Amino acid sequence: MAYHLLQRDREGAARLTAALQTSLASIRHCEKCNSFAEAVVCELCSSPRRDASLLCVVESPGDLLMMEQAECYQGLYFVLMGALSPLDGIGPKDIHLDRLLRRAGDGLVREVILATNFTVEGEATAHYVGELLRQRGLKVTRIARGLPVGGELEHVDSGTLAQAVVERREV
Ligand SMILES: [Zn+2]
Repeated sequence: MAYHLLQRDREGAARLTAALQTSLASIRHCEKCNSFAEAVVCELCSSPRRDASLLCVVESPGDLLMMEQAECYQGLYFVLMGALSPLDGIGPKDIHLDRLLRRAGDGLVREVILATNFTVEGEATAHYVGELLRQRGLKVTRIARGLPVGGELEHVDSGTLAQAVVERREV
């Protein structure tokens, strides 16, 4: 990207530099959800329209954005800014677990929804975090795996299909 900008779009490079410098100076982490924010507490966390009894745990601000775009959730969030990965040296401190536990223990949160990725790291994180939250008497749920909307069985990978069968529910 740097080579491309230097070669073909030096003006764009200057604009990108300015934008990054502004972001570095003004963007911080929201005190409540840990996502990127310009204020101490972000707009989403300070909105009275959100359901404070639901807390959804995601790995990144991008995941939070996807959840919001799906318009399926009215609760609040906590962004880990990563996932547990001992091989890469990423432990509980690096994903702000102490802050999550404090946040989930505010007395208002009734259910924590674990929406980490379905990767090895995301699954391990969901297991570890879920255990700690359950020990504190909170209801812990995990988003479901399954077939994509409009998906056909014969075109889906066998891992997804197998998981959908394991996680089937009564209708
Ligand atoms: Zn926030």
